[in-house]
Amino acid sequence: MPAFEFRMISDSNFNARCYFGGKILVNAGVLPVVQNDDEFAFVIAHEMAHALARHAGETASWEIARTKGFQFASFINDWAAESRLQKKSVELVLQGLNVASILTVSLPHDRLQESEADHLGLILMTRAGYRPQAAVDLWRRMAEVQTNTASLLSKAIAKYCSSHPPDAERLANLKLWLTETASNRQNAAPLGDSSQNGNDQK
Ligand SMILES: [Zn+2]
Repeated sequence: MPAFEFRMISDSNFNARCYFGGKILVNAGVLPVVQNDDEFAFVIAHEMAHALARHAGETASWEIARTKGFQFASFINDWAAESRLQKKSVELVLQGLNVASILTVSLPHDRLQESEADHLGLILMTRAGYRPQAAVDLWRRMAEVQTNTASLLSKAIAKYCSSHPPDAERLANLKLWLTETASNRQNAAPLGDSSQNGNDQK
């Protein structure tokens, strides 16, 4: 398990992110949006889940694979230029490949990671004694705020929502997992020594 380290930074945008080795940065802009400790716990637990599932490493591996693919494509491009093929056509094909690889590899992969982080995050927050329904409440509110693009709040959370879209599928999954985590909560054993996990106040 990574040695988690949490920092809050002075940034009014709603955002939180996880880096290699369990370092988690949370913007101060999260605080005016979350309405209780449970919602805040979900934001943190979601990032912890990314760390536990080693998503940063997975993403790096996929990006290396994509880069290798484009090194090969660049070689083809050079070869085509030497062969006097229509350079413009080859460039268009390469641009198409870039878009296709994002649509077929990167985006589905990101969605899968987000889904895993939601699921594992729900389990973590529940085991730590927080109310998992708060995850659904938070995402539903984020979706509502997003439709009101003029509000200051929606601008503050826009970036987070671009990588964490609060769509119908996400909400449906969270509701489904609530049932599962409710039984986890009833059967929950303490998560190790409470003096170490920093949850003495709950
Ligand atoms: Zn995430």
